[in-house]
Amino acid sequence: MARDVRLLPKAHLHLHFTGSMRPETLLELADLHGVHLPEALTSGHPPKLRATDERGWFRFQRLYDSARCCLRTAEDIQRLVREAAEEDARDGSGWLEIQVDPTSYAPRLGGLIPTMEIILDAVESASRETGVGMAVIVAANRMKHPLDARTLARLAVRYADRGVVGFGLSNDERRGLARDFDRAFAIAREGGLLAAPHGGELAGPSSVRDCLDDLHAGRVGHGVRAAEDPRLLRKLAERQITCEVCPASNVALGVYEKPEDVPLRTLFDAGVPMALGADDPLLFGSRLAAQYEIARDFHAFTDEELAELARQSVRGSAAPQDVRDRLLSGIDDWLALPA
Ligand SMILES: [Zn+2]
Repeated sequence: MARDVRLLPKAHLHLHFTGSMRPETLLELADLHGVHLPEALTSGHPPKLRATDERGWFRFQRLYDSARCCLRTAEDIQRLVREAAEEDARDGSGWLEIQVDPTSYAPRLGGLIPTMEIILDAVESASRETGVGMAVIVAANRMKHPLDARTLARLAVRYADRGVVGFGLSNDERRGLARDFDRAFAIAREGGLLAAPHGGELAGPSSVRDCLDDLHAGRVGHGVRAAEDPRLLRKLAERQITCEVCPASNVALGVYEKPEDVPLRTLFDAGVPMALGADDPLLFGSRLAAQYEIARDFHAFTDEELAELARQSVRGSAAPQDVRDRLLSGIDDWLALPA
């Protein structure tokens, strides 16, 4: 019998805010606020998605937007964050970095600053209540103007001592250039934040290179398509840049056909550190521990290798030293359990 991956301590570095919601919570909030949800979100099973063309990606974004419309009050935000932490605790996560673009919630919550305050307060209480260490990555939207990204970078830096640890860039990598956001990332890095933009998901290795060269990424959201370029893999391995690989998301969005096609082995064998993540469990139907199950079931990762993946997630995180030490020693304890 194999060890339970839910008991393996790990860090969760790629989880979007609305995308973390429990499906039943979405239904309750929609009911509460009188929001009419598209059928794809009410059917009780994850929607069929395909983001390999722009239309498919647009449909995915539209579903995400409808879910986001159900988050209207500070109470909704508190509930979302608490439940995300509870789900993470159940899956063995001892450290969760949740990613949010506060712009989308600001109109209903009184502006950007009140929104950040609500989110960070919610994160602090959820962390206290569940024992999962938590922090926030503020993510700019690639489809918006780079000046908006700069505003967000300044906001993120302002809250660096209140739980913001990183700055991200999300949405369709095929649009615009990473370089357009270089000033925003410079502001974030100068403010002590980790640069963690998305790259190498919808677009190939060049988008990962852009994240490294133009945005000086310390970590890459997805990054999985670096597997197509051995030189890039060597660079990621040399610099120990963690890729936040989300296997279930990749399959749900059609980046890879089947779980066995996600090149986990290629990255692992090349020495590229990975932090497996769930991305948007609401839309993809699986959470953190399930990603480790994919590594085990479809890529024959042994328990020693799963433990190494968990260590990589912890090392790639922005968790404080005491949390890292606790998680790393918990990983050794997990391996010491009878298999
Ligand atoms: Zn993502």
